Parts: sequence; structure tokens; C-alpha cells
Amino acid sequence: MVSALAKNYSRRKISFKKGKGSFLYANNGKKYLDFVQGIAVNSLGHSNPNLIKAVSQQSKKLWHISNAFIIPEGERLAKRLTKKTFADYVIFQNSGTEATEVAIKVARRYFYSIGQPKKNRVLCIKNSFHGRTLAAIFASGSKKMIEGFGPKVQGFDHFEFGNIKSLKKSITKKTAAIMVETVMGEGGIKVISKKFLKEIEKICKKKKILLIFDEIQCGIGRSGKFFAYEYSNVKPDIVPIAKGIGGGFPIGAVLMNKKVASGMIPGSHGSTFGGNPLAMSVGNAVLDQIFKRGFLKNVQKISKYFHSELKKIWKDYPNIIKEVRGLGLLIGLQLHQDQSRFIKKLMENNLLTIKAGENVVRILPPLTVKKKEVDLAIKIIKKVCKIYKV
Ligand SMILES: *Cc1c(COP(=O)(O)O)cnc(C)c1O
Repeated sequence: MVSALAKNYSRRKISFKKGKGSFLYANNGKKYLDFVQGIAVNSLGHSNPNLIKAVSQQSKKLWHISNAFIIPEGERLAKRLTKKTFADYVIFQNSGTEATEVAIKVARRYFYSIGQPKKNRVLCIKNSFHGRTLAAIFASGSKKMIEGFGPKVQGFDHFEFGNIKSLKKSITKKTAAIMVETVMGEGGIKVISKKFLKEIEKICKKKKILLIFDEIQCGIGRSGKFFAYEYSNVKPDIVPIAKGIGGGFPIGAVLMNKKVASGMIPGSHGSTFGGNPLAMSVGNAVLDQIFKRGFLKNVQKISKYFHSELKKIWKDYPNIIKEVRGLGLLIGLQLHQDQSRFIKKLMENNLLTIKAGENVVRILPPLTVKKKEVDLAIKIIKKVCKIYKV
């Protein structure tokens, strides 16, 4: 059958009829351990009973209402997010890239509102990932993503990952914000060190620049803390989130402090779907579980075990694996060579993983993953290493 879908994805030739927890059941009859989880989206696994309940209950009451009216479910979700984090205010969206767009808008609007409209440039890491809208691809500066999509969206500068000199050199009087992923997901699960985060914060304070942490992939418990930046003592001004907060339902949001929120006056931004009752009910149900006592501790515990088991495999197969990377359940297995064949072999052995930059096999279990499921993944990875020809 010829697909009527445009060819902007290279899809694997497989589809699924249902999912349960860490597993997916394919239409080919096979059962897969799903350590992609919609790319860190299904934070609580497939078919989570609490999420099913939230969707079905809310769907019988009210799906959508305009932001021209008060939405109690959104009020509640925003209040809970601000209570747990640095933030004072939240704007809801529907996806990650919209959240980064709004983060940029909030930063610019703040300086505009205090009479410094020329302070409007955003400094990002070269080849980072902030989504696929026009602004977001030019924020990333990746040649591959911007190819054919000119003219260039102005207002972005870039520095080299981990290079403080390059960062300092790229700052001008016009720099309004520095925006980084606390852990670079698409770029290859590259963790920004605590020391570097501290250094960025110091520079931001000194030069009156806003700090934006894109926690769309590494946030909402994936790192073992609610936000990955919490491992450092650094406080951001703006944090876009998405992926994990909806547990599979499309939700994006921007968290911000009081200072920057002051620029977002009525009419300055809007979204038709953003924050509708159905989405907000699911978001609340996700937080019910993630905020449960011991939930994040357990993510830390199981990820520590996973990392140590992967390191053992790396010791046994240093000719295949170059490095084990990541934070919490955002895990990268960096290979010496292109990882596509390795990922295919894992899939042939019923384990689903996904690519990231720098030859990384990205491993993203649900935050509810069980030890025996990690053991199964380890067994499969070992088996593939054993038969893999470099
Ligand atoms: C996935 C991702 C985005 C984009 O999210 P979409 O929902 O695909 O628009 C932005 N930033 C980071 C760090 C991401 O991982």
C-alpha cells in the first residue's frame, strides 16, 4: 500500500495494536519491551489505569473551553507546578516546540516591558534541539534542520557545548537570554555539568541575562529529580516543559518567575487548545503519581542499577560501546560507529530503543519501569553485543 503520509519521517516497518506498562504488542504478533515510550513522553508507561480514568472521567464532562473563561483544571495544574518548583506562573501550550517559542517570547517581552527592546537575542548551544518551528530550528543552529527553510529567523547566537570561552565570547549587550537543554536529548544525551551550569548562572547574573532551561525531555522526573537542573543549585528564570507532563497526551507549558511574567500582559500571547480541560486533567493525573512520596527516589534507585549494569557491558565490550551516558532514566549508549544496525538488532530481539546524535542509542524506559524489565533489557543488550560484528 502506498502511504498518503508525506515522507518527512523514515519509519520502521512495524505498527502496534496495544501497549501495557513497559510493553508494546505489535500487529506482527510480537511483544516488545518499549524503551522509547514515544520519546520520553509516556512517563507512566502505556495504558496507565490512573490516566485512563482521568481521560474517561473528564471526557464525559467537558473537553474544551476557550481560554476566555476560567479553567479550574488548569488553575490546579499550574498551582501544583509552581508549588514544587522555582516558578510563580505558567502558560500552557500543546507541544514542546511551542513551549520553547513561548519561552523566547517571554524573555523578549520582559526586556521590551522594561524599556530595553534591543536586548532581544537568545544564545543557544550549537546543534542543540528545541523543536521544529521556524524559530526553534534557527535556535538550534543545526545545518541539517535549517536546510531549505530560509530566510533565517534572526535573533539567535550560538556557543560550543561545554566551552565557557565560546560562551563568553558570544555574549553581547543584546543578549536577552541563554537557553540550554539541561541534558541534551536529541544531541546525544549530553549532560551539562553542574560546574558549567553554575558558571552560566554567574554570567547571567552579572550581565542581567535571563536563564532558560529547556527541560522538555529531561524534566518531569526523568532525571530522578523533578527537574534535571535541581542536581545543581542553579535557578532558572524560564523553563519550557512538554513530553512527560502529559503521559502521552499532548501538553506543553512554560514555567516562569514573577519578574519575567510581568511582561506577559493580557493579549500578549494565546493558544486555542493550550490548557484545555481534557489535557489539564491528564496532566494532574500524571503529577498525582510523580509527586507520590518515594516515586522519584525509586527512579533514582532503578536508574542507578541500570547505569551500573550497562557499565559492566561496556567493560566487556569496549570495542562496541564507547561510553554510557545520561542522568536517571535518560540513558545513552554511545557506540564507536553508527548505531543504526545495533538498534535494529535490539529490535530483532524485542527491545525498542531510538537514535540520538553522536552514535548514541537512546534508552528511555517509562519512569514506572520494574527491575525485572531492566534485567530483560540488559540480557538483550548483552546478547546483541555478543553477536555484533564491529
Ligand atoms: C522534543 C523536544 C522539543 C520539541 O518538542 P515537540 O513536542 O516535538 O515540539 C524541544 N526541546 C527538547 C529538549 C525536546 O526534547
